[in-house]
Amino acid sequence: MRILILGAGFGGLELATMLSEVDQGDAFDVVLIDKNDAFVFGYSKLDVMFGRTTLDDVRLPYRMIEKPGVRVLRETVTAIDAVARRVTTDAGVHEADVLVVALGADYDFDGTPGLADYGNEFYSVAGAERLASALPEFNGGRAVVGVCGAPFKCPPAPSEAALLLHDFLTARGVRDRCEISIVTSFETPIPPAPDASRALLGAFAERGISFVSGRRITSLDGNRGVVALADGDELPYDLFLGVPKHRAPDVVLASGMAENGYIPVSSQTLETKFPAVYAIGDVATIGVPKAGVFAEGAARVVAKSLLAHLRGGERPGPYDGRGSCYIEFGGGRVGRVDIDFLSGPQKTGTLEKPSVELVAEKKHFGASRKARWFG
Ligand SMILES: Cc1cc2nc3c(=O)[nH]c(=O)nc-3n(C[C@H](O)[C@H](O)[C@H](O)COP(=O)(O)OP(=O)(O)OC[C@H]3O[C@@H](n4cnc5c(N)ncnc54)[C@H](O)[C@@H]3O)c2cc1C
Repeated sequence: MRILILGAGFGGLELATMLSEVDQGDAFDVVLIDKNDAFVFGYSKLDVMFGRTTLDDVRLPYRMIEKPGVRVLRETVTAIDAVARRVTTDAGVHEADVLVVALGADYDFDGTPGLADYGNEFYSVAGAERLASALPEFNGGRAVVGVCGAPFKCPPAPSEAALLLHDFLTARGVRDRCEISIVTSFETPIPPAPDASRALLGAFAERGISFVSGRRITSLDGNRGVVALADGDELPYDLFLGVPKHRAPDVVLASGMAENGYIPVSSQTLETKFPAVYAIGDVATIGVPKAGVFAEGAARVVAKSLLAHLRGGERPGPYDGRGSCYIEFGGGRVGRVDIDFLSGPQKTGTLEKPSVELVAEKKHFGASRKARWFG
């Protein structure tokens, strides 16, 4: 069975790993395509931005992957024909029996006028690196962490950025010369997780961080140093740390697979409306937050159902939409929110309080993926 996986992020890496583990390359011929030469965990961008590590230390080069039955190709996908399961890249054409789209979400930097010219963003590797150089120069003024559109990856990340910025400025002895605020269209930091939101609001209050809720950012005017809001108000800023608007990659939009921005799938099986074509992770509309743990969970369901198909066994149970996200609270503590969006009658998100122990657990989370995918 020729399985073509587009995108070697959280979802694509987990799927290729599982298929290789269960099949050892006997029946599956897996091709994993990515335009980049290395994977970087989303949360590593916060570490890079605040100088806690360097990009070199967190890049995981794809050339390290050696898995039976899996070929990793560095190519850029330029067209997807979902009906024919034929994919064109800058290097040629690939045909597949099963196609899995795991291309993630891209950023629409121009979707917020002024962001590219007058703001910074910390969601791309390049943006995080730029901030690593710019932040040590920020010695006073108004810092605004601004969410420019929803949905966006990792809902706790803007709160984490504000809390870590507080620590960063405090350590440099300039915190009392700075104001920090978060501007978001959400009413609470993480709407589906009330306990975590309360804990974050408490942490903001303790540190003098303002949480400006229910406000939509429309543009930035760098000449006047203001963030324009949809209700007509303006917010002055000296340093803007943005979460850019997200959208599916252009190649997905051009393929006709997307509806309302992303690829609709069965939330139980991850199948698209095209036979033998799946979509997993941030590129899909499935009713879970855009985060790596959910891409990984979706990949596991697809792997199990391909295996069941091959061996004639039982199909896996439906995707349960469960996952745990770690939240940097600053002060050397990490919290964890356990999300369950699809298995019960209600969406739930419960908080495991910030602690030093969870710092170690988060480290293990990353190290175990690194070992599994790249070991
Ligand atoms: C600051 C920040 C912090 C985060 N923290 C966490 C966290 O603590 N926990 C968590 O679970 N998630 C976290 N996330 C979110 C997480 O990184 C993403 O949700 C996750 O990576 C999504 O996985 P995916 O497989 O859907 O897509 P991705 O991991 O984004 O992978 C998509 C891949 O497709 C490739 N690609 C795209 N277009 C093309 C093309 N045309 N041709 C070839 N290749 C292409 C890309 O290069 C990429 O490697 C964070 C994100 C950010 C930005």
